[in-house]
Amino acid sequence: MRRLYAALISAVLLVSCSSDDVSVRTCPADYVSTLCGTLSDHSFSNGNVYPATALPWGMHSWSPMTSDKAEGWFYRYEAHKITGFKQAHQPSPWIGDYGQIAIMPLRNTDDYPADRRASLFSHKSEQAKPYLYSVYLADHDIRIEIAPSERAAAIRLTYPESGESGFVLDALSPRSEVSIEDGLITGRTDNNCGGVPDNFANYFVVKSSKPVTSFNVEGDDAIAGFGGTGRGEQVTLYIASSFISPEQARRNLLEVEGRSFDEVRDAAKDRWNEVLGRIEVSGGSEEQMRTFYSCLYRAALFPRKFYEIDADGRPVHYSPFNGEVRPGTLYTDSGSWDVFRAQCPLLNLVYPETASEIIESYAGIARENDFLPEWASPGHRNCMIGNNSASIVADGIVKGLSNLSKELEDTLFATIVHGCTNVHPEIPSSGRLGHEYYDSLGYIPCDAGIRESVARTLEYAYNDWCIYRLGEALGRSESETAPFKSRSGNYRNVFDPATRLMRGRLSDGSFEPEFSPYKWGGVFTEGNAWHYSWSVLHDVEGLISLMGGKDGFTEMLDSVFVVPPVYDDSYYGRRIHEIAEMQAADMGNYAHGNQPAQHIIYLYDYAGQPHKAQYWVREVMDRLYSCAPDGYCGDEDNGQTSAWYVFSALGFYPVCPISGEYAIGSPLFTKATLHLSNGRNVTIKARDNSPANRYISVARKNGRRFDGHFVSYEELMDGVRLDFRMSSRPDTE
Ligand code: CA
Repeated sequence: MRRLYAALISAVLLVSCSSDDVSVRTCPADYVSTLCGTLSDHSFSNGNVYPATALPWGMHSWSPMTSDKAEGWFYRYEAHKITGFKQAHQPSPWIGDYGQIAIMPLRNTDDYPADRRASLFSHKSEQAKPYLYSVYLADHDIRIEIAPSERAAAIRLTYPESGESGFVLDALSPRSEVSIEDGLITGRTDNNCGGVPDNFANYFVVKSSKPVTSFNVEGDDAIAGFGGTGRGEQVTLYIASSFISPEQARRNLLEVEGRSFDEVRDAAKDRWNEVLGRIEVSGGSEEQMRTFYSCLYRAALFPRKFYEIDADGRPVHYSPFNGEVRPGTLYTDSGSWDVFRAQCPLLNLVYPETASEIIESYAGIARENDFLPEWASPGHRNCMIGNNSASIVADGIVKGLSNLSKELEDTLFATIVHGCTNVHPEIPSSGRLGHEYYDSLGYIPCDAGIRESVARTLEYAYNDWCIYRLGEALGRSESETAPFKSRSGNYRNVFDPATRLMRGRLSDGSFEPEFSPYKWGGVFTEGNAWHYSWSVLHDVEGLISLMGGKDGFTEMLDSVFVVPPVYDDSYYGRRIHEIAEMQAADMGNYAHGNQPAQHIIYLYDYAGQPHKAQYWVREVMDRLYSCAPDGYCGDEDNGQTSAWYVFSALGFYPVCPISGEYAIGSPLFTKATLHLSNGRNVTIKARDNSPANRYISVARKNGRRFDGHFVSYEELMDGVRLDFRMSSRPDTE
């Protein structure tokens, strides 16, 4: 059935790519710039991403490098020299890379040392697309073009006339091995930043279309020479790697071996057009189209497929959780704290076949060790807080996307429940740090030596609600689910009625005496009370009543944008980049550059003031996003910040993923069509739309007028038609 739907979608796209309609004259993949978000550094993030050329969710990404040392910021848009082209697996500069190798073509193989191989380049001689990265290396007079498959790539090199042409393969680790036999270069590297057992390795294989006539290994560099090339002579390198074995790497090479470079590139382009084309938008500016598809591309890169296909055509993976080779799929390289909010809900809605593989992957992890990772790269990493993997699993299962057996669903549920009363022995961000306090007091006290105590309490409460809903969906007994339902109200225990904000609480029940709503960190995670007081995704009604009803609630919500962008960074001792990005946005204390705040604009819908949501959603889309290298307003974070834009441009957002309720904002395009995998289409039309006409004056659902502020998952899956008339005047009633 699923194959049939995929075929249907492909048919739709082939039509749209060849259409005469001006709005679709270019294929969606050509609207994407992979450079969007690459002008970033430690202290100020405009995305903190690298230009990844890869297939959607592909096992390897390829990216130019501008740094000559191993560092998270290995690519900087403003650099003038490229040092190599890396097979990268890095999900975030803060987490680092693993199993990486790099290629650099050379006019003269004597120039292989790191300080001599770097070449001048210009963005004017570059194409940075998801399916192709191409650049002219001025100092070598060589053009390089890279086209990806899921686990391999074709690299076409156009050489000048030279008697010593070749390339260097850098295994980027002193513990690497590389050799050549019968013209096939093979090797292994085990570089990583953690999250792997001792037997971890990336096994690579390189085959050249032109015979390699000289081969030397110097340290971790393998220098391959062709003996000479004529001017304009093209050589194609076919390169693949495996986390399982050298034999599997050879099998993965079959993804590209025997195909021309153009065939590999065109297949990658077709795949991206199929994925990106599931959403068609029109009636916006060229710039908005580019931003939209660049965001949709980022939202479809992670989590990364870490599984491979064995000789019998079955998925198989190296487990970074127990070091064994296991059957089944595995996805990695993402943080649940970020992506449970909008990126996973976007996959669930638009790419359910991938979403159901991700759930299958979590079930595999549950059999390979005792905990689900909250940050994975490729195994458990110590980063961020909460049990938000429960949200991802519950969202998929509640929406009927699980293909798991009853037994596997039970294993998955048991592992999630186990994680609520245990902490991973080495990686404390997996499991539930502070569960003893949370279970006995109903909150984590701020004097118990557990940092980010309020943020943890709020997230555990939401996570408990997710587990309650998951248990219900799996038919678990009420006695099993009731405690989770009851604990989901624990957010109330850190709400201070005097300030109407979430606030640190001591073990004796009193609130932390020193309190500033502008203080970042401490009891919160990369945010302050203005950001975290809204982290009650599952019970906004309850939060509204705590804040004194709709009037009190909107007064507090207005304040987020009205208070000056002042901050207290005493907890960190420096202005962390998230603070700088909030301050620079000129939106008061609203911090769109980090995840805890990304749903709060939509809370205006719950308080009956949707025109304010419409105003702010458009401010954020218009001012904080673009398709330029500085096109994000903080860390992009594995598709989450991009998914916010994709949903918001469509006109709705999943404030609480599992609720199946999407809050309506302000659609950006005159028309958007969502091609669902069940063969139905969601269409969103916004007449008279413009930057000034951002307010909804009339709304129709399937032709019938409606005044609600929400659309449901069921309505979307049925193929709802939403028709809006846009106006420059807010409808305050
Ligand atoms: Ca972040």
